[in-house]
Amino acid sequence: MTVDLKESVSSLRNRATSRNPRTFTIPLDNMGQVKKVSDYYGELTFDFKKSEDISDLTKREIIKALDEGQGIKKEHAEAVANAVTRWAVNLGATHFCHWFQPLTGGTAEKHDAFFSFSKEGKAIERLSASQLLQGEPDASSFPNGGSRSTFEARGYTSWDLTSPMFLIETTNGRTLCIPTAFVSYKGESLDIKTPLLKSISILSPAVTKFLQLAGHSDTTSVQVTCGAEQEYFLIDKAFYFARPDLVMTGRTLFGALTTRNQQLEDHYFGLIPDRILAFMQELDYELHRLGIPSKTRHNEVAPGQFEMAPIFCEANVASDNNQMIMTTMRRIAEKHNMMVLLHEKPFAGINGSGKHVNWSMSDNTGLNLLEPGTEPQSNLRFLATVAIIVEALHRYAKPLRMAISGAGNDHRLGANEAPPSIISAYLGDTLDKIFHTIMEDKSFTPRSNNVIDLGTNQLAHLLQDNTDRNRTSPFAFTGNKFEFRAVGSSHAIGFPMTVLNAAVTDIFVEANTFLEKEQAAGQSVDQSLMSLIKKLMGNSLKAVFNGDGYSKEWVEEAKRRGLPNLRTTPEALKTMLDKNDYSFLVRNGIFKESEIETRYNILLERYIKIREIEMETMIDMIHQFVIPSGLEYKTVLAKLIKDQKEIGVASNFEMDAYKKVSLKIDEIHALSLNLHKELSAEHHDHQKYAENIAAELMTTVTTMAGICNELEELIPNQFYTLPKYYDMLFLR
Ligand code: ADP
Ligand code: MG
Repeated sequence: MTVDLKESVSSLRNRATSRNPRTFTIPLDNMGQVKKVSDYYGELTFDFKKSEDISDLTKREIIKALDEGQGIKKEHAEAVANAVTRWAVNLGATHFCHWFQPLTGGTAEKHDAFFSFSKEGKAIERLSASQLLQGEPDASSFPNGGSRSTFEARGYTSWDLTSPMFLIETTNGRTLCIPTAFVSYKGESLDIKTPLLKSISILSPAVTKFLQLAGHSDTTSVQVTCGAEQEYFLIDKAFYFARPDLVMTGRTLFGALTTRNQQLEDHYFGLIPDRILAFMQELDYELHRLGIPSKTRHNEVAPGQFEMAPIFCEANVASDNNQMIMTTMRRIAEKHNMMVLLHEKPFAGINGSGKHVNWSMSDNTGLNLLEPGTEPQSNLRFLATVAIIVEALHRYAKPLRMAISGAGNDHRLGANEAPPSIISAYLGDTLDKIFHTIMEDKSFTPRSNNVIDLGTNQLAHLLQDNTDRNRTSPFAFTGNKFEFRAVGSSHAIGFPMTVLNAAVTDIFVEANTFLEKEQAAGQSVDQSLMSLIKKLMGNSLKAVFNGDGYSKEWVEEAKRRGLPNLRTTPEALKTMLDKNDYSFLVRNGIFKESEIETRYNILLERYIKIREIEMETMIDMIHQFVIPSGLEYKTVLAKLIKDQKEIGVASNFEMDAYKKVSLKIDEIHALSLNLHKELSAEHHDHQKYAENIAAELMTTVTTMAGICNELEELIPNQFYTLPKYYDMLFLR
């Protein structure tokens, strides 16, 4: 593709609107029928459990080692390495790579060829056990927040057996990706995966013990389940490359709103445009081949905004899958001459994008802990679980807010169309009433007027019918799971899940001690669960909010309740400087002190860099595009005014427009000079600098964006050289 920066916007419009949906065809099977999803689902993933090249005994031993949290034996790794090499090479792969999630939030890969020499000097394809188990990328090239000195720049990637290996297909070949954890030479985690795995492995025994104390003697292990809905925007490629702000920062730094944005509310669940559906169909095909259970696709609220959701699975796999989903979306969209915008707020004034992280826990018997059961004690077990989670949310609101922070999400959280930065839980009317009833020692009267006590199985039915949805809550109970909606659309979900798992585990551990004590003192299981619910809810009911989370009243109400409201990333990151806030992460073994420090440094640095790039890009665009467009308009106006004066005609409108444009150009020029000066100053205290950016400089940036928008509205289309919201959101 060629990018012609001088190409006029009207020519870009022609290009975008004359494109046809890209056709792609699902291959035929041997019988000449179009393949079904079940025919190709997972064909690009390698599951050692299903491989015919590995003996049953080896498989059993690997699974046993996994269950017991043991390392895998070298000879078993050898067997898997041989099998996966045969599989991958047969499918045309030439290279393998250790695929990992560094702290930048994306993924990284270092490719090596299977190609090697045999002892006899013959060219062969080979992956050794040690190449499968461990890689050695140079850690110094990845953000490490100062946790490295040059002499220990090595880092290790080590194979994560719990997530399947997969093949990525690019134009000229296939590469085997081996999901791995990434740690420094000294064993510090430098990635998203390692702490996530730790958090799951500490959650399991704590929740298992809780279930046993609640009478579930069959429970031996618990896993975290996750299904992450992914929101995104799609815009035509032609417009994307004509907007340096999108290319450099992922969002439009300014742009006037169109007359119709989302006020008609006609886009959500509306008819999916053909060109978009063509993309979604190819995306689903590719995701299914990668063994990613894509299930739902639809329009979102804003024009040009869409969503996909997979079927939930085990959290670590869901986290890897979400990374692959984002990568695959980008790749497929380009084939359709579109660009995916995963930024949380690519367009000011209309809805942003989130990643709704649906989260629950289930045990080895298949019990979903957030599913109210049909037995009386399972109702209490369910209610106690909810109470524990709400207490975790209440007690660890700050670290949870920290885990979803980032420059992009700052535009979304707390803006008046996104879950606010106040962390609260939505339980819905029914559950809310039940908890209040318990607290007041009364019996519960449901809406339908038939009195129930908690000893019947009606709770399950009641909650199923409890379909009232609240889109304004950052953390909502939705029937049989919680939905962490405040997570940003571009984020790696592994980090927020890690903090959530750790927070919840911390309260489970406390609850277990309490239950043990109560039961030892002679209370029945039910009595002890009831006491636990009262104890926890007495404290944390204030973190429950079922009203409109977007309202001003909630901000005030939350303040009265003493709930933290960390509005910006620099404020939220300070959580990692305060032992009181983060010590549970260290106490439970998720992070070492030094790893917290690493993350603080990286995230703060990232915030500053992103904002600096945004501000520099803005200044640049003002001088490259906005001001020149204004000057061109002024030249035409000046000539007109002069000509009209010569023939004795008044130029009221022309003079007025000329003056307005001049005034706005002067204003924006002065502001951008000032901003430029601020940006060239030296800063030693990075925390203070970041806070200053968030509070002061971002206010200037907003003012500047406002002036750009005014100019955009003053200057006729023919002189304006940037694609507008109209183009990006509506033309395809
Ligand atoms: P909703 O309408 O509440 O968004 P969906 O059925 O569309 O409900 O589910 C949204 C997401 O939640 C899907 O990705 C789904 O797989 C996931 N999900 C459902 N149950 C669970 C669970 N027990 N744990 C984690 N995620 C779940
Ligand atoms: Mg949902």
